Amino acid sequence: MIPVTKPFLPPQNEYRAYLDKIWESQWLTNMGPLSKELELRLANHLRVNEALFVTNGTIALQMAIKALDLTGEVITTPFSFIATTSSIVWEGCRPVFVDIDKESLNIDAAKIEAAITSKTQAILATHVYGNPCDVEKIQAIADKYNLKVIYDGAHAFGVKINGKSIFEYGDISTCSLHATKLYHSVEGGLVFAKRKAVFKKLKSIRNFGFAGPEAFDELGINGKNSEFHAAMGLVNFKYIDKIHQKRKALTEKYDTLLSEANVQKPSWYQEATQNYAYYPILLDSEKYLLKILEKFKKNNIQARRYFYPSLANSTPYLPIQSFEVTDDIAKRVLCLPLFYDLMSKDIKVICEIIIKTFK
Ligand SMILES: *Cc1c(COP(=O)(O)O)cnc(C)c1O
Repeated sequence: MIPVTKPFLPPQNEYRAYLDKIWESQWLTNMGPLSKELELRLANHLRVNEALFVTNGTIALQMAIKALDLTGEVITTPFSFIATTSSIVWEGCRPVFVDIDKESLNIDAAKIEAAITSKTQAILATHVYGNPCDVEKIQAIADKYNLKVIYDGAHAFGVKINGKSIFEYGDISTCSLHATKLYHSVEGGLVFAKRKAVFKKLKSIRNFGFAGPEAFDELGINGKNSEFHAAMGLVNFKYIDKIHQKRKALTEKYDTLLSEANVQKPSWYQEATQNYAYYPILLDSEKYLLKILEKFKKNNIQARRYFYPSLANSTPYLPIQSFEVTDDIAKRVLCLPLFYDLMSKDIKVICEIIIKTFK
């Protein structure tokens, strides 16, 4: 079987060495030494001032919404993972969807202004597949209308625009370190903030809102992660470059083999680096996509309709809405298998199936 993704697992003895450290310190969770070490190493690697290691990428989004005191309408994208939308609703805000751009598949910045009302407080956009949103235009709109900006950077680990970390954009940026993501700590997430005061607030929110052992300064939650997860993050940290190189090579293999197929790839932000988190392709029509999926199934290959369906017409808690570009793209986008252990020969089989389907 060729799965669509497979978590990276480091050599077990390297993880065991960290378990020895945990047994030595007897510190299991609550911002222990390994969590702190991970935060420092990641902040340094990603070239940001500070990073908060939290339970997962979903709580990271919820903490972001809470930290910015949002209560009204939040402009967001219908083309993302469900957590982008559900965290807005979970925090008592109203998601207002704006259609995506058909080239980048990110929220269409040119359509944001038309969706702004007197109740709009923020824009929460996803860097889909790690490809940066139109961060400059979005910030200009936010400045003009006095809105906050949150970026769901769950896919965007390591991406830079002209050397600047993607996580430096917006008031708050988040990332997911889930096992299926590019770089992981089994479960985990990261939160970054532009302003020091916001970062401090996020830190307090992560720990129940404690201001000291007997005082509270915020409405908080338990967003802490454990030393066991930090240990996995630290072991995997050593492999970041190797993982990146491997995924780059696999991506290039796909590019070469698919050059003769009738498939399109989303466009990438021109000044940004790539992180090779996913390999999305756009087919001509849903009919082709379903044909390919059927052939994949026969050959024990998994691919994922990521993202499908649109978040604006699939949840039981929001009204059904259609969006021209999102609905069209969601129907014909497919993410092909891409993971560290994927082999060149597997890519050959996958690409042959795709090419044959068109013939
Ligand atoms: C994975 C993901 C999340 C949620 O992250 P978890 O760590 O699984 O909670 C949020 N947004 C997007 C776009 C994702 O892909």
